[in-house]
Amino acid sequence: MIDVISFLPAKRKQTASGWISFNAPCCIHRGDTQDKRQRGGIKPGTDGSWSYHCFNCGYTASFVLGRTLTFKARCLLEWLNVPQEEIERINLESLKQKSIDGLLHERQAMVNRSQNITFEDRDLPADTQELNESAVEYLQRRSMPVDYPFLYKSKPRPGIVIPFTHDNQVVGHTTRFLDDRTPRYIQDIQHGYVFGTDLQRDTWQSVLVMEGVFDALSVNGLAVLHAEINDAQVRLIRSLGREVVMVPDQDEAGMRLVDRAVELGWAVSMPEWPADVKDVNDAVIRWGRLATLLTIMQAKETSRIKIELRKKQLVKRLRT
Ligand SMILES: [Zn+2]
Repeated sequence: MIDVISFLPAKRKQTASGWISFNAPCCIHRGDTQDKRQRGGIKPGTDGSWSYHCFNCGYTASFVLGRTLTFKARCLLEWLNVPQEEIERINLESLKQKSIDGLLHERQAMVNRSQNITFEDRDLPADTQELNESAVEYLQRRSMPVDYPFLYKSKPRPGIVIPFTHDNQVVGHTTRFLDDRTPRYIQDIQHGYVFGTDLQRDTWQSVLVMEGVFDALSVNGLAVLHAEINDAQVRLIRSLGREVVMVPDQDEAGMRLVDRAVELGWAVSMPEWPADVKDVNDAVIRWGRLATLLTIMQAKETSRIKIELRKKQLVKRLRT
């Protein structure tokens, strides 16, 4: 067992939401001032995996048992004064635990590299906080999974920070602001990125593709994050090797995604939802995850003609 907690400074505390916080060792290595307010946080998983986030400078790193230590995780351990031999031992110990999941993951990583699907590691915004009560309430209202590592930011506007991960590394984020001003979101997104690949399980045979991050989170699907799908995103989605089902928002922009899906030969699902349910997240809020998934699978169409007909119906409704 690799016990990361034993490497943490003695002065630390555990918070209700599962973070172990201590003075962050990262900031001074990144040109920031020394943290004295215990703004470094580690969230340990059940099997020895962990993720680190600095609420001060935004540095992130994570470790998954069965996988090689990432560059950012190594840096963090060094900054925590873990000796080099110990870091190598953790790496070896981890690789000994390599499971089927780890092997499949490696194969996927190889496919991705060969197709040039890679993203650079990114930090999250500096000065974030754990979720406060109103943020938790907001996420519950939108039926979000409680275990997703959301963060909160109060300045310059209050908002929820949703980390974008690929291969369990942070490669971007979006902030959903909670005041009613526009823009409602700001995003740090890399070209070709698709949200939600880390939410997929190996045994699943199909994958749902939607526009928004909340839609993807509510049914463990993918989000293309805008009302278009670029070619790099298509490559990434195809690399998963599953049946692809596009579930567009039931609005004008969503209909453009339908055309693109048809062109790509993907299935499309446009369930008959009432007019005030315009996307997957709305449906999950109203009927729950399982019922929503059922309506999506029942409304799935692969025939180009049937998709066109259903789209015409929807467009007509949108214009009345
Ligand atoms: Zn830091």
